Amino acid sequence: MKALVYTGPGRVEIQAVAKPAVQTGHALLEIQASGICGSDIHGFLGHSERRQPGLILGHEAVATIAEVHASVTGWKAGQRVVVNPLIHCGGCAACLAGKQNLCASWKVLGMDRVQGTYAEFVAVPASCLYPLSTDLSEQEAVMVEPLANVAHFFRITLAEIPDSLTILGAGPIGILTLVMAKLRGIARVCVVDKNEARLQAARTLRADHVVASGAEDPVDAVRGWSDGGTEFVIETAGISATRRQAVGCTRRGGRMVFVGLAENLSPLPWIEMIRDEKSVFTTFCYAPRDFLTALRLIESRQIDLRPWTETRSLDDGQAGFEKIAYDPGSTLKIVFKV
Ligand SMILES: [Zn+2]
Ligand SMILES: [Zn+2]
Repeated sequence: MKALVYTGPGRVEIQAVAKPAVQTGHALLEIQASGICGSDIHGFLGHSERRQPGLILGHEAVATIAEVHASVTGWKAGQRVVVNPLIHCGGCAACLAGKQNLCASWKVLGMDRVQGTYAEFVAVPASCLYPLSTDLSEQEAVMVEPLANVAHFFRITLAEIPDSLTILGAGPIGILTLVMAKLRGIARVCVVDKNEARLQAARTLRADHVVASGAEDPVDAVRGWSDGGTEFVIETAGISATRRQAVGCTRRGGRMVFVGLAENLSPLPWIEMIRDEKSVFTTFCYAPRDFLTALRLIESRQIDLRPWTETRSLDDGQAGFEKIAYDPGSTLKIVFKV
């Protein structure tokens, strides 16, 4: 089968690889479309230790079931699905508590040695499948996985709706957070990014304020606009500079959520955080119920990023990755048509 393989920093290429075998409990999927996630970009750039050359990247997929193993019930060939790419054991304490994202042996498609979805076929456990209606376009359905991350952190950290929110980073997760925040009735939402075209998307999607971090100091700008910081801050870039900014943008007694995964070690001003009772939350991926929430939201057509989504052929993989990694402009999501 044909697959887009990561061959080294800054390089992906189309290769002929073996079609995966269908093991017990698994289904073989014929991929229709697959989006580029921020984590795929880190892999492409050579910044992810857990994505080494020879790996097929990709985990945001829309597919049709090609074949199911005889052990699988409830699914049949020809059904259209979206894929929860977080594979979990189902039996550990975390899984049994409904926190499958914290499974002791979680795996993600397109990471470590698990081949991803930039390929004609992928084999996944049947428990990863969600039925998808035929009226949703591939461009809409591909947003279920990134939106599931947002649904997750809203569920676990935003039980009480704050009066104000700062979003650091206007990539797909930041923009989906903005749309979700407005759906949930957060009155004042500020989006910070250096990319002007993406800030324009944020304005279109009802941001109350935007800050161009290349032109002004984001902490001063947010504190000025919000009278000392917003009640809630979400940091989606995952780098030291924006993590530090998150603390500055959070008001006294406020809360910050870190979801970005780019850098591992980042110093933070702990004395300021402690004296001002600024609470820190972290969140990772999603549990199956968050995936379902995201699917239902996409089905309800309350979240639609198609104006900022670009579709390309999988054969155009190198150019697609270069665009989204180095010069995305207003494009939030590139979807490969397989
Ligand atoms: Zn993703
Ligand atoms: Zn588990």
